[in-house]
Amino acid sequence: MGVEYLKSGKLEAERSVDDAKVRKIVETALADICARGDAAVRELAEKFDGYAPASFRLSQQEIDELIAQVSPRDLEDIRFAQAQVRRFAEAQRASMTDIEIETEPGVILGHKNIPVQSVGCYVPGGKFPLVASAHMSVLTASVAGVPRIVAATPPFKGKPNPAVIAAMHLAGAHEIHVLGGIQAVGAMALGTETLDPVHMLVGPGNAFVAEAKRQLFGKVGIDLFAGPTETMVIADETVDAELCATDLLGQAEHGYDSPAVLVTNSRKLAEGTLAEVERLLSILPTADTASVSWRDYGEVILCTTYDEMLDVANEIASEHVQVMTDRDDWFLEKMTSYGALFLGPRTNVANGDKVIGTNHTLPTRKAGRYTGGLWVGKFLKTHSYQKILTDEAAVRIGEYCSRLCMLEGFVGHAEQANVRVRRYGGKNVPF
Ligand code: NAD
Repeated sequence: MGVEYLKSGKLEAERSVDDAKVRKIVETALADICARGDAAVRELAEKFDGYAPASFRLSQQEIDELIAQVSPRDLEDIRFAQAQVRRFAEAQRASMTDIEIETEPGVILGHKNIPVQSVGCYVPGGKFPLVASAHMSVLTASVAGVPRIVAATPPFKGKPNPAVIAAMHLAGAHEIHVLGGIQAVGAMALGTETLDPVHMLVGPGNAFVAEAKRQLFGKVGIDLFAGPTETMVIADETVDAELCATDLLGQAEHGYDSPAVLVTNSRKLAEGTLAEVERLLSILPTADTASVSWRDYGEVILCTTYDEMLDVANEIASEHVQVMTDRDDWFLEKMTSYGALFLGPRTNVANGDKVIGTNHTLPTRKAGRYTGGLWVGKFLKTHSYQKILTDEAAVRIGEYCSRLCMLEGFVGHAEQANVRVRRYGGKNVPF
């Protein structure tokens, strides 16, 4: 009885060694960008991407020429995906209302949702040109009303990828830079001679991008820790090994460090999935990447009960969680830590990644314990305000305030209250 690992992945301690190496590379590169601006950005772009044109920022003419290279079919598909993302983001925006209420007679409290004034949207593109990430960050920022949206993506195979550039432009980017990795997020956050700094960085990326955002947090805001993709499949005998194995490898192909975990209460399904993964790896064109991820980070966890499956899933807090059981809604009700849920065998993570309309920028490395994914609300700052409308309210709140200030020893604070108590009709507050 209890949880049994039919296959385990790298232990946390091993991952920490990789993290430390990445941390050092990022620290050095960011310090260089801080000190030398554009010159450092250019050297890093040359070093990591072999790409250093006269300007990393595309002109409108270059954007138009690149869009002209995208087929009408691809443009139509991009527009369809953006329509879905926009529809859901607009509904979420509408749910974020400003409020103003009278809490005591004459006392008005409220909050307003104000868009971040400039954001840097990172659209990954090292291994694959992630067209979809443009919808997820640029379009969502646009729906939130962000007035300056800067977008950056690395060159793909040595040059700008037309489909990614088209998606950025159609999503509403105001500036497009063909720049990747640490140099892109560093330049957007720190600013250079040719790039005005932004107030917040958003978007997914590899371990270097995620770590750079983490180190830049404080200097600028960040959306969340959205590093190398992770996926979990929660399944029982209502589904077959082919679906489970396909869903595991569908995300493991992202990079060499993408965990894919099966949690099941069926030994037959667990063993069948292990075999099916091997079969699929022998024919999948991206097996060179997926097989490394599966070897190093793949896990198959056999539980005895649904409660145990739930506990394991909440503890791992995976970015994507595909649920295919006879009680999917029970998991929806009970799951507390994850990036996004994909419920039932008819849907899948690729739908969410590419087209269905929910955001694909999602928390990794257990960040799902404290945040959900990117959404329109991440681009809005909720700011409070207060007003006192009557003399009576000023005196009444002021008397409480004065005594509470003195309870903490704040004489200057108390006098702020006292001066108003006296001015609006009260007497000095007795302590
Ligand atoms: P990327 O754009 O994130 O990174 C490419 C850049 O990395 C390059 O431009 C280069 O500058 C830099 N780089 C590469 N090797 C380096 C090195 N040794 N030192 C310093 N910099 C280096 O593209 P990618 O690599 O294909 O990764 C995309 C990542 O995004 C994947 O890990 C994928 O899983 C992840 N992703 C996550 C989410 C999420 O929401 N969590 C969503 C989509 C994609």
